[in-house]
Amino acid sequence: MKILNPATGAAIADVLEDDALAVRRKYHRARAAQPAWAATPVKKRVAALRAFRDCIVARHETLARTLTSEVGKPIVQSRNELKGLLKRIDFFIGEAARVLRDEKVYADAKENLEERISHEPLGVIANISAWNYPYFVGSNVFVPALLAGNAVLYKPSEFATLTGQHIAEMLHASGVPTDAFIAVVGGGKTGAALLRLPLDGVFFTGSYATGAKIGAAAGRKMIKVQLELGGKDPVYVCEDVDVKVAAAGIADGAFYNTGQSCCSVERIYAHEKIHDAFVASFLAEVKGYKIGDPTDDTTYIGAITRRPQLEVLARQVADAKKKGAKLLTGGRAIKRKGNWFEPTVFTNVDHRMALMRDESFGPIIGIQKVANDAEAVALMNDTPYGLTASVYTPDEKRARRILSKVHAGSAYWNCCDRVSPRLPWSGVGHSGIGLTLSTYGIQTFTRPKAWHLRSV
Ligand code: NAD
Repeated sequence: MKILNPATGAAIADVLEDDALAVRRKYHRARAAQPAWAATPVKKRVAALRAFRDCIVARHETLARTLTSEVGKPIVQSRNELKGLLKRIDFFIGEAARVLRDEKVYADAKENLEERISHEPLGVIANISAWNYPYFVGSNVFVPALLAGNAVLYKPSEFATLTGQHIAEMLHASGVPTDAFIAVVGGGKTGAALLRLPLDGVFFTGSYATGAKIGAAAGRKMIKVQLELGGKDPVYVCEDVDVKVAAAGIADGAFYNTGQSCCSVERIYAHEKIHDAFVASFLAEVKGYKIGDPTDDTTYIGAITRRPQLEVLARQVADAKKKGAKLLTGGRAIKRKGNWFEPTVFTNVDHRMALMRDESFGPIIGIQKVANDAEAVALMNDTPYGLTASVYTPDEKRARRILSKVHAGSAYWNCCDRVSPRLPWSGVGHSGIGLTLSTYGIQTFTRPKAWHLRSV
């Protein structure tokens, strides 16, 4: 399999793709290794993940450069991803022992009865991952899964293969047995081969289209399935905001990572009283973004990782224009080697347009005028997705009222495009099922076993 740099189109590595037989062999190795890993005391498992953290710190710059070279992410944002990763690992290693401890939930001396819950690992799980934040979306699964005593077959996206190899190498160097965490190399076909094996759980991050196939494939197996999928995340800007401050924060939420975040702002609803002022500030912000060489520290907009996405963006632009949207900036692929698209802003948009309903996953946004909160809520809920939603207003009561009516896994007041290790990360509708992060995101890799204990 050839690994291409999306910013230059150049081939940067050749890797061997796993065929179905290779995947099966890896599965058997993981199956054989899992009981010993599960029997390793939690303290030791935590120590291994702590050593993994140290390894990331030591190799920080090399890891950031590899990530930038294979996904086209601006180098500063690659470094930020690694910094954020350390915080996630800190959270998980800090909480694992407490969350995984057996619980005594009932005791009756007269009856000689005790009831306990133990948190058993699921067994061998598949972690099929996306490329846009490979360290984040991967570690949300494999770190707590390993801490809980599972063996992990980790299939990084074919667009983040080198990062996946770094992860495997560092985990092994840190004391995670080579067969308790195994990287599976390849694309969709390899992922599908993995799903045909008798796994104990499937944890997937990626698009709705693939997630739906994975859900169907796993359904008949009666195993745990988690799907963290796409979004069409809305922001509502109320008339009482500081327009400049709101525009700067929301533009960053829309264009950070070149718009290729699951929780990127993908739709903006601006109250009619501040719509024009907001648009002017937003546009000034976007026009200030530096586009170009992702290895340059001053670059903000990098490459589009997957070439076919350029067509998706071009189609959304053409559709919006045809239906009467007003293009304020951008709208075209940039003619240079690799995959590039201009930061693009539309106004006069509505929900007949794909731009306002389908995931864009790129540097493109529509701003729609709304008359009041009720209209904003109705529009925010008018997609099958429900990952995050955001309201900008100084009025907390108003924000809470609006956000309580919006279908989304995460609700943001005066912020957006934000993930916290302490809070559950989940989606509603086409954004997925299950969750990662928070202490629930450790429990999710366990099966609670009920113990009814009567002494004689
Ligand atoms: P994708 O669905 O194309 O691929 C995801 C993974 O699935 C890859 O590893 C791919 O090789 C594998 N795959 C493809 N076909 C398969 C099959 N038939 N069987 C098994 N595996 C298969 O998604 P992508 O382009 O890598 O990622 C972008 C998408 O991920 C966006 O929709 C984005 O919103 C979403 N995403 C969601 C979250 C979240 O937390 N909710 C986080 C990051 C990305």
